[in-house]
Amino acid sequence: MALVVQKFGGTSVADPSKILAAARKAVARHQAGDQVVMVVSAMGKQTDALVRLAEEITDRPSAREMDMLLSTGEQVTVALMAMAAHSLGVEAVSLAGAQIGIRTDSSHTRARIRSISTDTIRGHLDRGAIVIAAGFQGIDQHGNITTLGRGGSDTTAVALAAVLDADLCEIYTDVDGIYTTDPRILPAASRLPTIAYDEMLEMASLGAGVMHARSIEFAKKFGVKVLVRSSFQDGPGTLIAPATMAAGRTVSGVALARNESRLTIEGVPDEPGSSHRVVSGLTSAGIAVDMIVQNLAQDGRADISCTVASSDVQQALEVARRVAGEIGAAGVSCQEGLAKVSAVGMGMESEQGVAGKMFASLAAKQINVQMITTSEIKISALVERADADRAVQAVHTTFGLELAATGSDSDLDTATLERTPVSPLEVVQRLEGMEDLAIEDCQLDESQALVTFVDLPDTPGVAAEVFEEIGKAGLLVDMIVQSEPRNGKAELSFTVASENRELAATTARTIAEARGARVADIPHVAKLSITGVGIRSHSAIAESLFQPLAEAGINIDLVSTSEVRLNVVVASEQGEEAIAILRQALGLAEE
Ligand code: ADP
Ligand code: ASP
Ligand code: MG
Repeated sequence: MALVVQKFGGTSVADPSKILAAARKAVARHQAGDQVVMVVSAMGKQTDALVRLAEEITDRPSAREMDMLLSTGEQVTVALMAMAAHSLGVEAVSLAGAQIGIRTDSSHTRARIRSISTDTIRGHLDRGAIVIAAGFQGIDQHGNITTLGRGGSDTTAVALAAVLDADLCEIYTDVDGIYTTDPRILPAASRLPTIAYDEMLEMASLGAGVMHARSIEFAKKFGVKVLVRSSFQDGPGTLIAPATMAAGRTVSGVALARNESRLTIEGVPDEPGSSHRVVSGLTSAGIAVDMIVQNLAQDGRADISCTVASSDVQQALEVARRVAGEIGAAGVSCQEGLAKVSAVGMGMESEQGVAGKMFASLAAKQINVQMITTSEIKISALVERADADRAVQAVHTTFGLELAATGSDSDLDTATLERTPVSPLEVVQRLEGMEDLAIEDCQLDESQALVTFVDLPDTPGVAAEVFEEIGKAGLLVDMIVQSEPRNGKAELSFTVASENRELAATTARTIAEARGARVADIPHVAKLSITGVGIRSHSAIAESLFQPLAEAGINIDLVSTSEVRLNVVVASEQGEEAIAILRQALGLAEE
């Protein structure tokens, strides 16, 4: 007997006939002898309708009351779903988040799960009932109803699968799996038979709305097998699984975040702690910050740019202006109407020329790249929103993703799922602070050199040309960061292995001379990498890491973030001290 969690999204329960169809799927599993927990979303676009209703009353609704309102959507569906199961002759019980005991913190409208009690659900499963759980909602320690953020039912489902040690978590939705990019944007996208947790985490957090990013944090932390499949047609779907089970592709997918804005804090005094103050000011206001780029200081001042979701831009501007005043920066500027296109893939770490290829594909379509950041498994480029769809198409085509569906489909649904019972101790460990940031390691890499182009003309294709030349020279670049252009000039930095520094610097100088730019190179830098799960979404990490570095007088030269990694580059002579500070701040043992 297996235990399976089945989640049905809004479109999969949009009307009574779809609710009955979903119930039939659960009943079939149940009749095959498995225990079934269903997690359901609000019907169709009901959550949007509730949001609009609130907006008709006030433009500043209280977050607590929003949660009270939005949680009703899922409550309707659970009741109807239980009735549907009854009508099919099966014992079933609906439960709201509070009834299950999904405990969250009190951050209304974006609450994080602290713990889930398994007793109620187990009791019902053991007496043979199907449990129908409301997605997206929980309860805080004071008994207030909370919600997990839009799209949060995925997180409820995977979290329940984790605490119940389910054999499989099926996500039923309106697409038949995870595609190389959103098939609504690009019909030529292809379905991936498998995708690694880290790739899915990046895809989701960089804009692929098909899965709530936090659900993949749970999946990775607790090793939950997640199968994304269609509610409306049978098929193998996509298995989200450990990297060892997923096909190793250079690029697996392209994600688009269509509504991005860029803030630039200009003329920030170049001293330890300045960038920390800017970023932590934003993150402590609950604003998710991405693509943080600081250019080389000139005359003791630097510019710091970052991107935020356009929906947060007003609040972000208020915070940035306040912090700019406090630290004596020259001012804040903001550009709206941008979009972020990201290529994601586990294989890019070890393959040269990936960045160059991506930038060349954009240049060929005359799409200007406004800012670049990379991590080991993703490259993000900021472009004009009007270019977004064409940019996705260009990157998708250049990596041949129309034909990406290599590897074989999983046979998970036909295999007999055998459950290995978990010990009570393990369950307790799973429950504590379920959604806390999980840091795995912090490493110091002293083998890198940093090369920066200064005053590079900001014309379409310049990044492509630079990385084409660098690729031809046989150089494998690691981090790449391109700052916001000012007065038509941008800065572009990259790191390479120190042993290739001579070649990198010479190549860079030749490239720079041809374009009237300069090159600054630092033969040895220290790169610190923190790996874990949920690094970007737990925005407070910037607070807890940049602060102690700043206090020790350590200046950060370059930062790049992803969901699974935070890289910072500091001066090589400060590497040892920096790693000791970070390990202590993270509660990791000394090496
Ligand atoms: P649900 O209501 O079932 O939770 P969502 O609308 O949240 O469904 O997610 C499914 C949608 O995600 C698809 O219809 C698709 O347009 C979109 N999507 C975005 N990126 C991808 C991707 N890489 N693969 C598949 N679907 C994607
Ligand atoms: N109903 C919620 C929403 O629309 C949660 C979800 O569907 O996952 O955001
Ligand atoms: Mg969804």
